[in-house]
Amino acid sequence: MQPICDYHMHTPLCGHAVGEPEQYAAQAIKLDLKEIGFSDHLPLLSHEDPKISMNRSQLPLYHKMIENVKKNHDPILRVRIGIEADYLEGYEEQTRNLLASYPYDYVIGSVHFIKDWGFDDPAQRQGWTGKDIDQVYHDYFDLLRKSAQSELFDIMGHVDLVKKFGHRPQEDMSGEVQKTAEVFRDAGVAIEINTAGLRKPVGEMYPAPWMLKVYRKAGVLLTFGSDAHDPKDVGRDFEEALALAQAAGYKKYILFKNRKIEDEQKI
Ligand code: ZN
Ligand code: FE
Ligand code: FE
Ligand code: ZN
Repeated sequence: MQPICDYHMHTPLCGHAVGEPEQYAAQAIKLDLKEIGFSDHLPLLSHEDPKISMNRSQLPLYHKMIENVKKNHDPILRVRIGIEADYLEGYEEQTRNLLASYPYDYVIGSVHFIKDWGFDDPAQRQGWTGKDIDQVYHDYFDLLRKSAQSELFDIMGHVDLVKKFGHRPQEDMSGEVQKTAEVFRDAGVAIEINTAGLRKPVGEMYPAPWMLKVYRKAGVLLTFGSDAHDPKDVGRDFEEALALAQAAGYKKYILFKNRKIEDEQKI
């Protein structure tokens, strides 16, 4: 058993992914997925970095590309158009305006930056040197809560990305996660099980199994994403992801259209 849809995948426009969107769709069909959603990185508003995201002038092309994939596969594969937007403190209104300029089926909100440090960017990994890891975790969870409260997003992306390179806190973070789960529930945002963590130094999906339980108990809804930056990673490790959801007590996951919950699937 696997989820029927993968909501987190990229395109080469972001500068760090390979393969044409058609190849992502082909892999999804091969795996018998019924629905996919592209969620490439929204142009970064704080600064331009062609290795992190497309620039604003490429957004129309992104939408056109995905519309084409959608047309080509209707009705065998439902194709949704999403986006992965950074939460950048101080840029909330600009982000809101940019998101409003195109129609989306869902917006994934991701924290990749603490102030101007891209803590998960391999090119900025040296930024971890000498840092108080517990403090980085506290800062990260604080930003996750602020991002949910910004009302910019529908799904929160990889909600313990801070562990990507294997940095582990000494302190017990269960209080942080509990608080975060309550804020997510009250803000009405969902989370994702993101399988990409398995392919990173930490070797574990996002979020960790114990965190997923906290989110489920708080009543936070669920989606699934591979965070594929390569067609071969579409739907990757999805059976394990579904088993993880089941073990956390989830009975269903949700599907989006036009930024609303469109349907749910039983687990
Ligand atoms: Zn990426
Ligand atoms: Fe991300
Ligand atoms: Fe992503
Ligand atoms: Zn991501």
